[in-house]
Amino acid sequence: MTKQEVMQKAKELGVEFIHLQFTDLRGIMKNLSITIEQLDKALDGEIMFDGSSIDGFARIEESDMYLKPDLDTFVVFPWKPQTAREARLICDVYNPDNTPFAGCPRNILKKTIKKALHMGYTMNVGPECEFFLFEIGEDGTPTLKTNDDAGYFDLAPVDLGESARRDMVLTLKEMGFEIEASHHECAPGQHEIDFKYSDALKAADNIMTFKMVVRIIAQRHGLHATFMPKPIYGIAGSGMHINQSLFNGEKNAFDDPNGEYQLSDTAMHYIAGLIKHARGLTALTNPTINSYKRLVPGYEAPVNIAWSPKNRSPLIRIPAKRGSSTRVELRNPDPSANPYLALAGNLAAGLSGIEQKLMPPAPVSENVYDMTEVEKIEKEIGALPGTLLEAIEALKQDELLMDTLGEHARVKYIKGKLHEWNDYRTQVSKWELDQYLTSI
Ligand code: ADP
Ligand code: GLU
Ligand code: MG
Ligand code: MG
Repeated sequence: MTKQEVMQKAKELGVEFIHLQFTDLRGIMKNLSITIEQLDKALDGEIMFDGSSIDGFARIEESDMYLKPDLDTFVVFPWKPQTAREARLICDVYNPDNTPFAGCPRNILKKTIKKALHMGYTMNVGPECEFFLFEIGEDGTPTLKTNDDAGYFDLAPVDLGESARRDMVLTLKEMGFEIEASHHECAPGQHEIDFKYSDALKAADNIMTFKMVVRIIAQRHGLHATFMPKPIYGIAGSGMHINQSLFNGEKNAFDDPNGEYQLSDTAMHYIAGLIKHARGLTALTNPTINSYKRLVPGYEAPVNIAWSPKNRSPLIRIPAKRGSSTRVELRNPDPSANPYLALAGNLAAGLSGIEQKLMPPAPVSENVYDMTEVEKIEKEIGALPGTLLEAIEALKQDELLMDTLGEHARVKYIKGKLHEWNDYRTQVSKWELDQYLTSI
């Protein structure tokens, strides 16, 4: 869209407020609201904010930052009142000298996308975002009680979760999402809504929008939506599988009807790149302490670094569809990831596999959970990091991913994550008290 088109549309739709949105390094969406009178200025990228007030952003001496809206992201919030309507624009963060700010995750993804374009590729991404819906307690805070159980025993005519999900789908559709499927996941209260793949930048924007919409609509149904990867011990956690492919113009560059597994050499190199960088990449795709409570055997979440044309236990699965749907599904990412950084890391790893013509080890067809350690060594199957600390250590060793983040972002990111780790490490948990308080 052009500036004039956005101005026109805002006027026609009766928009009074515009939310300028951007995402910080931790993957948290930030928001600066302006009135319609400021839109002209905003569209020229002249709205300024104090970057030092935002975690993981600028240092004090470079605190004045500018927001440059991506005009194609203009959309009205359908759940807001129909008069004095509210719209949003997703923005890139810029320095006062008009250069892209190195700590803005969206700029980091854009830089990596540019690299892919130079090599002749566009990355397409279809995320599968899972989440839990929990009941809200009398005091207004979320509980761990799922509505399913209540519905089951209460013989409620309509499950509150199902009707919330229906409303989420309708709202997302109104905002331009093409919803492919929406279903209950295996755990009680766990859901998934899948939307159609798009280019990587739009997919990352979509993930941020998706999470916002799901939270808001859940709240309107008296429920709390959480994207925490493993809210409850002993049942499945929530993943955000990243389906990805490279296109060369209109053609899916991963597809080759004559190739082994009907995959092209490009696809094989890309898989090898993901495998080579899997451990460091996990610091971006699984960035919270809680992420590692999900990456345990038995719940369809991966633990081992392997790939398979069919099995769901390894890190990478190749879904059966071919032609334009030929794709690689990376299964460790979870919805706590900053989608811009996670996709930048995936793409950089895959492209480096192509550049270096790497080949992956043989795929595994048996269940990796059941293999012995010796079998895993023979088949070159490594393990994903078991904790956030291990993942951060692996990221530090990974030159490619460190380069992808760039100096500013990697220093802030690693510092922030190590702080998170140390804070967690020194807590005394209920598990420890149960184990030791009376036995020692
Ligand atoms: P699963 O089989 O793991 O349940 P789904 O069928 O639910 O996977 O999800 C498929 C996702 O993959 C959707 O978001 C879909 O749009 C996306 N997808 C389909 N084709 C491609 C492609 N060529 N590149 C990237 N993503 C794709
Ligand atoms: N919930 C599982 C996970 O943690 C994935 C289930 C599925 O394959 O959809 O990754
Ligand atoms: Mg799923
Ligand atoms: Mg999947």
